[in-house]
Amino acid sequence: MHHDPKYGKALYRAGRAAYELSDYAFALKMFQRLVDAFPSDQDGPKEIKRTRLRMQEAQNGVFEFEAMAQEIADTADYRTQQASYLRRIDVRPKGLFATENIAAGEIILCEKAFVASNTPKNTPALSVMINPTNNRALHGSHVAIWVEAVRKAFHNPSLGEHILNLHDGSPANPATEPIPLVVDGMPVVDVFRMQNIIEHAAFGFTADESRIRKDVQKAFKVDSSGVWPVAARMNHSCLFNASRGFVGDFIIVRASKDILQNEEVTVMFCPADGNFEQLQQNLEGWGICCDCRLCKAEIDFLKGAESRASVMYEVTQFLKAQPLLKVARMLVDGEIPSDLVKEAKRLEKALQKTYPLKLFATCVPNTNKIIELLPTFGMANVHEWLMFAHYRQPPRALDYAHFVLMDHGYKVTIQSSGISLDRTNCVLSMTAVKAMQYIEHFYTQANVKEVAKSARALAEEMHVTYNGSMIGYQGWS
Ligand SMILES: [Zn+2]
Repeated sequence: MHHDPKYGKALYRAGRAAYELSDYAFALKMFQRLVDAFPSDQDGPKEIKRTRLRMQEAQNGVFEFEAMAQEIADTADYRTQQASYLRRIDVRPKGLFATENIAAGEIILCEKAFVASNTPKNTPALSVMINPTNNRALHGSHVAIWVEAVRKAFHNPSLGEHILNLHDGSPANPATEPIPLVVDGMPVVDVFRMQNIIEHAAFGFTADESRIRKDVQKAFKVDSSGVWPVAARMNHSCLFNASRGFVGDFIIVRASKDILQNEEVTVMFCPADGNFEQLQQNLEGWGICCDCRLCKAEIDFLKGAESRASVMYEVTQFLKAQPLLKVARMLVDGEIPSDLVKEAKRLEKALQKTYPLKLFATCVPNTNKIIELLPTFGMANVHEWLMFAHYRQPPRALDYAHFVLMDHGYKVTIQSSGISLDRTNCVLSMTAVKAMQYIEHFYTQANVKEVAKSARALAEEMHVTYNGSMIGYQGWS
């Protein structure tokens, strides 16, 4: 029996199937038996090595993201095969919770995609799937992952369980009753439920550096989406504590601030970028009513006579007409026209009025001395613009870099020994990374080495947290 080649093939196939289902312990057992029975087998040792690597990843959360990205570039295949790392989180009906303290910058979880699609936007065919039960439609990559998800769940009901119990937008959700996956010995997949789940749980990803390098603009040419069943259970908070990055279809979730054991892990579904009414509308689309402190401040502000919407519109128009690339070109040729700087400062003042301290900060009683600050994210782009525009007046540019970080809710304290960063209310973005890089640049020029070094470490940490890895990091230039 042991020397029947068919037996060897069966062991190999069983091992491969278990590997694909991420059951690495069983896969290893099969490959081990294969090698024991057929010591000269070529594939066995290779499979054992690979399976052991997956088990280490799942256990330790140590990944070589740069090598993964290189492989994606070499093979032009965005699908990764690394093991999910889920030991630091607990999946509860209400969301994801940390099982231990997690420091800012550290990995919270990594997860393989259940399904993912990444195709150029300019393909001639457009897929549309219409759900007659609710008159809603899926299109593009959402259709591709819907088809793949239905297939996967049908061929392997145990896999279907991971995805069919996700939030599907209906009120009693996640489902209180387990979803039947097999009826009369036949797998069943409710394709309309699957569609609702895709609509609610899928999100876009970028398989390459385009998320970081906006100038590449690739992000807008590729239609990508996927479902990560565990990561999909994270809830939104405008004052989120985690950020999602990707290498290929592999999601990397890192802590953007220190997270305590048993604290909920939250991400940003859409940014609190100053257009509060728009944000509320977007969140309603997901059936979310955010009750974070920032939303409370915004709601209180809306009760007053003033509104931010018209100023935000002016800001958007201004930044469209005077993008940072144009500012950089003007700096090469000479100075920024003073009327442009004046206009930016006028907008800054107008925006400032829409973030009254009494709502967006906690001050020492009867003073303007700030104890705690909420993010004023709507001002970040104007402050970033002013930071660049004052490039030839470094002390002013440094002030604006600080303002950008304050807009992101970071409290920055600079001492001769380095920088201390209070991340309590921070909302991380690439604009904050740029501001920290400017601080590094300023103190490098001023030859204050300890502060420059500290700023560099923080800029790198923020980049890694936002993007998952150091891939695409470009210093100040
Ligand atoms: Zn909120």
